[in-house]
Amino acid sequence: MKKRILLLAGGQSGEHEVSLMSARSVLNALPRDQFDVTPVVISKQGRWLPPTETQRALDSGEAPTGGDLVLHRAASAEGYDAVFPLLHGPMGEDGTVQGLLTLAGIPFVGSGVLGSAVSMDKIMTKQVLASAGIPQVAWALAVRREWQAQPDTVRERAAALGYPLFVKPANLGSSVGISKVSSAEELDGALDLAFSLDRRVILEAMTAHKPREVEVGILGNDAPIASPVGELRFDADFYDYETKYTEGRASMHIPAPLPTEVADQIRSLALRAFRALDCAGLARVDFFYVEETGELLLNEVNTMPGFTTTSMYPKLFEAAGLNYSALVTRLVELALEER
Ligand code: ATP
Ligand code: MG
Ligand code: MG
Ligand code: MG
Repeated sequence: MKKRILLLAGGQSGEHEVSLMSARSVLNALPRDQFDVTPVVISKQGRWLPPTETQRALDSGEAPTGGDLVLHRAASAEGYDAVFPLLHGPMGEDGTVQGLLTLAGIPFVGSGVLGSAVSMDKIMTKQVLASAGIPQVAWALAVRREWQAQPDTVRERAAALGYPLFVKPANLGSSVGISKVSSAEELDGALDLAFSLDRRVILEAMTAHKPREVEVGILGNDAPIASPVGELRFDADFYDYETKYTEGRASMHIPAPLPTEVADQIRSLALRAFRALDCAGLARVDFFYVEETGELLLNEVNTMPGFTTTSMYPKLFEAAGLNYSALVTRLVELALEER
């Protein structure tokens, strides 16, 4: 019997288009002799699109308006063996869709409500990882109301971290809404931008030097494995949206040229983080390696990382001997595994 898979893509976050790219790759790769795959694109308004509109959105790369309310469509998810929620960012990677699927009793690829919600929120992630003893940059929290009512307290918090610093919406990805702030004059604009996208914002001290950016893939449920370590190199001040998604702006190096002890430490810290955050299925764990000081700092955990055939996560497992189509098959198996 073929397994029936519902592939969710698009979604309401700033990473809608990135998700559509990932979904096209997964659709092509799930072996048709084993899987019967139905894609459903979720519009930017959060509506689940019927088949013809879904196809149009996948082809054109942009979702039209229209579609059905989530709850109406969720009922028709019945009869699927598993769901692949290939959604990035809020309302997809943050436990909301995972909660809906849990209530509906349908197995799904990736982390559950807890792991998804905590990992999506950069502040909660930092708190959990700090209590697990995992090294990270210094940081501070700010909420929108505070920024509106007592901006000076937020400015003081930033000054205490020192410049340059990074300002980020707590719940987003693809560098959307992130600014590198070099001096106090640039702070207000960066906070306004981040608060236009999220109620909670994180201020992060910048690493002591421009860091090397190294990433590792984790695959599994309660006995997860780590991939080789990969490195991203790019010619930009930091890894912003444009650098991420403009062809030829960044290059991937797998395995990353690192001393063996450093690569081993990255893998072991990543596995510890995966467990501490109660992740499942997959995650891409990103680190800063400050070569000048030898510091290794965990930056973030992405529970639904970019998933095109040329994205880092699939490339890391390809280097470990698991090709793209075997990887997506494995992810569905993990979704169906008893835990
Ligand atoms: P993703 O697309 O991987 O989900 P994201 O939107 O969650 O990314 P971050 O990874 O937190 O964003 O930050 C984006 C980039 O900004 C990093 O890859 C790095 O280049 C730079 N950066 C962020 N925080 C810091 C920091 N504290 N010190 C130095 N560089 C940083
Ligand atoms: Mg991220
Ligand atoms: Mg992300
Ligand atoms: Mg990142």
